[in-house]
Amino acid sequence: MGMQNTFDPELLYVECTRCGQPLLWRTGETTRLLKMAGVDTAVLDEHCMLVSDGCPSCQPGETRFSTRVVRLAQDVRKGNNDEMPADA
Ligand SMILES: [Zn+2]
Repeated sequence: MGMQNTFDPELLYVECTRCGQPLLWRTGETTRLLKMAGVDTAVLDEHCMLVSDGCPSCQPGETRFSTRVVRLAQDVRKGNNDEMPADA
């Protein structure tokens, strides 16, 4: 019952790189794939996503897809913070 990893790998957003569809695995599948890929789930957070090279909808019949974790860029925040004070 460690507290060091508060992010549930099952909450990772998974997307297919071929058709761009978000993928929904069965419960536990993401964790299983991450373990198979040798990914340390302790380093994952909500800024990570999992991409799959193909998925059952664009490659029917295929059951094994290589996956990898990508870290999303965090430079979306703008430097200037000139919001008006709320006058309620
Ligand atoms: Zn696909």
